[in-house]
Amino acid sequence: MLTMKRSELFTKTFKTVSAEETSRNAQLLLRAGYIHKELAGVYTYLPLGLKVLEKIKNIIRTEMNAIGGQEMLMSTLQNKELWEATDRWSDSKVDIWFKTELAAGGQLGLAPTHEEPVTAIMTEYIASYKDLPRYVYQFQTKFRNELRAKSGIMRTREFVMKDMYSFSKNQEEHDEFYEKSIKAYHKVYEQIGIGDITYKTFASGGIFSKYSHEFQTLCAAGEDIVYVNQDKSLVINEEVFDDETLAEFGAKKTDFSPKKAAEVGNIFSLGFKYSKPLKLEYANKDDAKQTVYMGCYGIGVSRLMGVVAEIFSDEKGLIWPENLAPFQVYLLGIGKTDKEAEELYETLTKQGVEVLFDDRADVRVGEKMADAELLGMPYRVVVSEKSLAAGKVELKRRAGDEAPLLLTKDALFAKLESAVRNFGNQS
Ligand code: ATP
Ligand code: MG
Repeated sequence: MLTMKRSELFTKTFKTVSAEETSRNAQLLLRAGYIHKELAGVYTYLPLGLKVLEKIKNIIRTEMNAIGGQEMLMSTLQNKELWEATDRWSDSKVDIWFKTELAAGGQLGLAPTHEEPVTAIMTEYIASYKDLPRYVYQFQTKFRNELRAKSGIMRTREFVMKDMYSFSKNQEEHDEFYEKSIKAYHKVYEQIGIGDITYKTFASGGIFSKYSHEFQTLCAAGEDIVYVNQDKSLVINEEVFDDETLAEFGAKKTDFSPKKAAEVGNIFSLGFKYSKPLKLEYANKDDAKQTVYMGCYGIGVSRLMGVVAEIFSDEKGLIWPENLAPFQVYLLGIGKTDKEAEELYETLTKQGVEVLFDDRADVRVGEKMADAELLGMPYRVVVSEKSLAAGKVELKRRAGDEAPLLLTKDALFAKLESAVRNFGNQS
């Protein structure tokens, strides 16, 4: 749905939120009716919030498809035996499991991640070197029994993740894709509007590589500390920021300054960690059995929405980047302009501009203006008797503090055209 009338939207805005909600992203998203809180660390995405989430997903989807990803959707309920085979079922090994009992007897788990099931699935489809490489991904709800839910939708017990898994013949083939994935990730963050403050960082690795790479967005509400060098060409996570690592990069401690950041993505070279125990093998050209080399690539989709809300907001409300806004325009009329405002709404709708029209008859203008700021659409268009008398309407950007522009309708359409061309046709 590209356009909508406020009178039809079931959600409303709130002046305050519960005092226990201390994070800025949750406060604003709850007040604006983008999300609803179910429990600590558990949120529902309401129509406006879902639109933002879907736009983030579409940006990611395009980039994952561009590097050869095939989308699928794996189950949430997990087979205990599969995870026992990799020794990740026991709570002493993985301490964030949500587990449940089947009525018919036996235990199931709610997936915190999907390496085990995806590897098992691929054993049915990968048999020969001709079946490789393969890249699969999904957008899926993950469950993690986090000790503390905090930072609003940035750390929750149920969240949306994009997880991609790569299956390669050998490390060389894997490395090539790994580098591609890094480029794709940068493109994603750029389109989301946080490209200039999101860095690829060196984080602790695993058995098959010394480091994993995280994507960290500078953000005061982030839980992590990253060390950034002067020209921002090298960023190292706190947990690996030691003399040994620095020596490896030929860098010295004094070149770096610590910054608060939020982990918005994490990519890993897994090697044979899962393919070996789950016997994901292929026959090479000489018909000899080889183990598949794997990688995994995560993005915190719902966390990203929280990070964006933290960064792009002010005391009045949200300020969505154009690529993520549920609607490009918040339209309202002042005075006796019902007919003209409605006409403009219809014209913009025909032109493919995403408009939320505040047509509510019983609401004061001041309240509509406040809602326009709280909801954070990139453009506010106001039709007033005064502007109409001059044959014009008023356009104001939500970001920045430029004065409103008085424009003829044609000039308005021209201004909004780029927004339509670039962003208006995604949903
Ligand atoms: P963290 O260190 O923040 O707990 P993680 O390293 O355990 O995260 P991964 O398994 O790498 O997380 O998951 C991939 C991405 O999912 C992370 O980079 C992050 O953006 C997001 N994510 C992880 N845990 C949560 C959570 N509890 N709530 C929301 N998003 C999360
Ligand atoms: Mg991680």
